[in-house]
Amino acid sequence: MSLDQLKLQHHYADLGPVFGTPLPPTPLQNPYVIHVNPTVMELIGIDPREAANPDWALLGSGAKLFPGSVPFSMKYTGHQFGSYNPELGDGRALLLGEVERNGKRWDLHLKGAGQTPYSRFGDGRAVLRSTIREYLAGEALTALGIRSTRALCMVGSQEPVAREKLETGAALIRVARSHVRFGHFEYLFYTRQLEAQHRLVEFVCAQFLPEFVDKPVQEQAEALLRFTVKRSAELVAGWQSVGFAHGVLNTDNMSIIGDSFDFGPYGFLDDYEPGFICNHSDHTGRYAFDAQPGVVLWNLNALAHAFSSLLDVETLKDCLGQYQPLLIEFYSGLMRRKLGLAIEDEGDQQLCADLMQLLESGRVDYSLFFRALSRYCGERPATALEELVSPSQHEALTSWLSRYDQRLQKESRSPEQRSRDMLRTNPKFVLRNYLAQRVIEAAEAGDFQPLRTFFDLLQTPFDEHPGFESWAAAPTELGKHLPISCSS
Ligand code: AMP
Ligand code: MG
Ligand code: MG
Repeated sequence: MSLDQLKLQHHYADLGPVFGTPLPPTPLQNPYVIHVNPTVMELIGIDPREAANPDWALLGSGAKLFPGSVPFSMKYTGHQFGSYNPELGDGRALLLGEVERNGKRWDLHLKGAGQTPYSRFGDGRAVLRSTIREYLAGEALTALGIRSTRALCMVGSQEPVAREKLETGAALIRVARSHVRFGHFEYLFYTRQLEAQHRLVEFVCAQFLPEFVDKPVQEQAEALLRFTVKRSAELVAGWQSVGFAHGVLNTDNMSIIGDSFDFGPYGFLDDYEPGFICNHSDHTGRYAFDAQPGVVLWNLNALAHAFSSLLDVETLKDCLGQYQPLLIEFYSGLMRRKLGLAIEDEGDQQLCADLMQLLESGRVDYSLFFRALSRYCGERPATALEELVSPSQHEALTSWLSRYDQRLQKESRSPEQRSRDMLRTNPKFVLRNYLAQRVIEAAEAGDFQPLRTFFDLLQTPFDEHPGFESWAAAPTELGKHLPISCSS
């Protein structure tokens, strides 16, 4: 369909004033289009040729609304760095409404839309830097097979926005199957609005667990909690397998459907460094890379507590008890696939753990190693791999490779098949911080070509893309630990 034909529904806003505040956006002045995402356009049924429609500048800045839109600032609360904050909500974003497409409903959410009743001390804006980071993260994770919110379009403006330094304002239309967070349930629980909490359980179930709609609300709540536990385990397994650190895993940044959600100072690993902390204000490493599996469980506990109005303690414990076995199952499956192991063998977990140990002590680039391993076929010396590993670890590498060779004997696939599958699993192009920084600096100087190039590479990260090698390289020492500000 054409852009004009897109009609929004407003099911969430219709839930009523307990759930938030209807209000129009405060449009960014003189907006210009930075990018329109053809894949997301297609997802919601807009003809990709509409990418050139000048209306995107107005729609993306909030100056024009889609027909049917009832902009709505959603209320939620949440635990930030372990402390409960009752003041949260969409402080700079508005749910514009929902699009129905092929039986699926998609939320459109304008981020950078101006102040709302939940802005607290904030200006309601988002800067170009963080908007680009969010835009790219959604595409990179999706292409790697990890559930994530995405964005339909991104606009910029010359409006000054003060952060550590003066920057300019930007906005994006975020697209997701749901914008309900753990914090939505915490809000209704801690304010004792239990009837509304039941309605929210029913609302989410109707969309994602339709087989439970006629069941009593307790049954729906249990099904929903189990669903969220499973989706969250799957999500974190995905992050750990690709080397993604979210950076700010507060419960208000946790999606009830297990999407990667609300990107701030995230980072993809360069060297395999399990303790990697991407958020410079995270002084204790609460959200370090290797802390994510534990902290997601902590968040699920906070969610389960909010469900204690509906479910008894034994049921809550049982739901939470599913998390660890699921996480291990998902993670082992993903790592086995990265290693090219199609069958299951009892020694696989140890083989993988020993490799990770080697990557850590050898200061090895995580993504480059797995990409190179995808082409390994037993050669000695294993030059392509050795080049990635510090010389002090070469012997350890050779002995690990011998065990790997032996393990591969148990596989029935041909080496060619294995290699082909590994090259579709282990990406060549990764959203590394130093590359995001390169794109952002060019964009801040008015050149959006690097952004477009990187966007296209991240959408197809397993393809070779000859001529674009510089976008696949590991950073120099200097580019490895760029301070990523949590301001956005
Ligand atoms: P975040 O750290 O991005 O997850 O945001 C935490 C809370 O602060 C949410 O309620 C946001 O809506 C709000 N917030 C973040 N940045 C701003 C801003 N510039 N203006 C208003 N509210 C904001
Ligand atoms: Mg947030
Ligand atoms: Mg945020």
